[in-house]
Amino acid sequence: MKFKDRILQSAAVKGSRVVLALDFSDPYEQRLARAERVLNAAKGGVAAVKVNHHLLLPYGLRGIGSLIETCRREELPLIADLKMNDIESTNLNIVDSLLAFGFDAVIANPFVGLEEGLGKVVERVHSGDGGIIFLVYMSHRGATEGYSLRVEGGETMYRLFARRAKEWGADGVVVSAKSPDKIAETREIVGKDCLIFSPGIGAQGGDLRTDVASKADFIIVGRSVTEAQDPLKVLKELNGK
Ligand code: C5P
Repeated sequence: MKFKDRILQSAAVKGSRVVLALDFSDPYEQRLARAERVLNAAKGGVAAVKVNHHLLLPYGLRGIGSLIETCRREELPLIADLKMNDIESTNLNIVDSLLAFGFDAVIANPFVGLEEGLGKVVERVHSGDGGIIFLVYMSHRGATEGYSLRVEGGETMYRLFARRAKEWGADGVVVSAKSPDKIAETREIVGKDCLIFSPGIGAQGGDLRTDVASKADFIIVGRSVTEAQDPLKVLKELNGK
């Protein structure tokens, strides 16, 4: 089953639209055990899992094998948040490693372009059941300094990136929950078939009471869940239960 269908199925089965970001800044030797504890506590209430450099740098793909195994057992799609942004041969090498070690999808930066950038990468992940998600608008303050720049013709970078997602066949896009207007704009450009993932709720100040929940397909949440005494309780609230 293709990545997009798998994550939608997982969301339906778990009754959740939360992608759990397993980001930890504990001492290196403690991070993996903490991630496993949190995942075990939270797994019933999440639709998918996202891993970032916090784990991938100190442990590598082999080192997080047990975590990958848990995700596979629980049928939780696993996303590598690498914001991939390199030349084609390096990008292909990255996605081949990720898929070989059990990841389901990767986040990429469409800034790098199609030709000798992401074109063949989209083809490669889609030749199997993998997925690729494009950054469209980030959640930090400085996002305006890059993603809001105007390109030739006056269009903003984030609108261009949303168009690229649709035209290049990305499975999804990342748009900050702190910019609900940009989620709505992105939806108009990408349509219904391209999933919108929205980070920035909680620790970064984004608020679910804005209508983010109704505009995005998934919310990406890290610290609000990973630092909670009772992750499942927080997940229930995030899922409106
Ligand atoms: O802890 P918190 O909920 O803020 O975590 C958000 C996660 O989403 C982090 O892994 C962060 O790197 C990621 N992310 C983000 N904004 C983006 C893209 C990814 O916050 N635009």
